[in-house]
Amino acid sequence: MTDLLSRLIQVDTTNPPGNETAAAELLRDYLQTNGLQCELYARVPERANLVARISGRGEGPSLLFLGHTDVVLADPAEWSVPPFSGTVTQDEVWGRGALDMKGHVAANAVAIASLAREGFEPAGDLIFAATADEEVGDDFGLSWLCSEHPDAIRCDYAVNEGGGDPLRVGGDPYWIVATAEKLTAPFNVRVHGRSGHASMPGIADNALVKAARLVERIAAYRPEPQIQLEVEVFLRALLGELPPPGDVVARARERDATVAELIEPLLAPTFAPTMISASRKRNVIPALCEIVVDCRLLPGQTPAEIEPVVRGILGTDIPYDLEFLKAEGGTRSSLETPLWSAVESFVAELEPGALPVPVICAGFTDSHWLREAFGTVAYGFFPYRTMTPELAATLIHSADERVPVSDLELGVDWLRHAAHAVCG
Ligand SMILES: [Zn+2]
Repeated sequence: MTDLLSRLIQVDTTNPPGNETAAAELLRDYLQTNGLQCELYARVPERANLVARISGRGEGPSLLFLGHTDVVLADPAEWSVPPFSGTVTQDEVWGRGALDMKGHVAANAVAIASLAREGFEPAGDLIFAATADEEVGDDFGLSWLCSEHPDAIRCDYAVNEGGGDPLRVGGDPYWIVATAEKLTAPFNVRVHGRSGHASMPGIADNALVKAARLVERIAAYRPEPQIQLEVEVFLRALLGELPPPGDVVARARERDATVAELIEPLLAPTFAPTMISASRKRNVIPALCEIVVDCRLLPGQTPAEIEPVVRGILGTDIPYDLEFLKAEGGTRSSLETPLWSAVESFVAELEPGALPVPVICAGFTDSHWLREAFGTVAYGFFPYRTMTPELAATLIHSADERVPVSDLELGVDWLRHAAHAVCG
């Protein structure tokens, strides 16, 4: 695995432009040598996705080990080793993608290859996918596979990135599983006025000044907290009971400040004004001002449902136009599934008394495409314990990204456990 990961890191798949085909071919060669059927799917020749499988015996459930092969930019000047060297030390592999997520991809490959060598005969297909273009999302990767080659990638269950962090609360062990994600639903607010020379503001109607009042209203808004299913399961595991929605953050903070931070954005939609544009000239009072708001809804909420809330926040005294932009994400997977049971039995074996806890990702992951296309139960779970969550968070998309070999071994153990538990 160390050697495979080192070679995978040496293939520069910085996205853009990606060039994931070289990584897909490297993985194909490794998997074919281990007896797997492999197929490349590419919208353009240099950006291939690899799908490999152990075909199932019959009608049983299928399971996908999902990973992306593209990585984000690395500036060699910030690094202690060249970022695409794949340097192997005594107990770590260094390089761009070691954590996000070529390490996980290498573990996926090693897990399915070991099962193939042992003659594992899954009930349904056991599938491996190494996809392109997760970091930018221009439809070369999983979204494209789901729409253009659904039969290659359709699955009942999937394990992806996005969880697996150990959480220690007052000495009690919990493991985070990403089972849902918020819906990114940005919107524009346009405020109109009347232009004029900036030397005589009294004769104009400044759209920027009016928009500033709307920005303040959005920032001051405190939505009513509500408890989603995932948060309920999380709180019951953590507190042994379910407090009223208004007390959740305070009760969580009593146990652990980090947990309170984690839970707060999962209780309600969030509204963050992030962009504003008005006059292009200093001496012209703008007749139009446009605000862009990054808005994240809870899974299940729709922009149509939230529009009256937004209009309530903005008020009626300043006329404006409101336009929701393209929304993305917002899917969830059930928690009463064989894959959840597999996570439970794995963490119980790993650490006596440990419990998995579900979280709603505040961002977007490729799990969304599978849930949306096939109703797949997709969880982000790749456990690690040698590296601390605090260190991992500072290394992802940053300099000196590296992964302990022992954590990759733990990941392989988990993937093999999941395969036996879900489609054995
Ligand atoms: Zn990633």
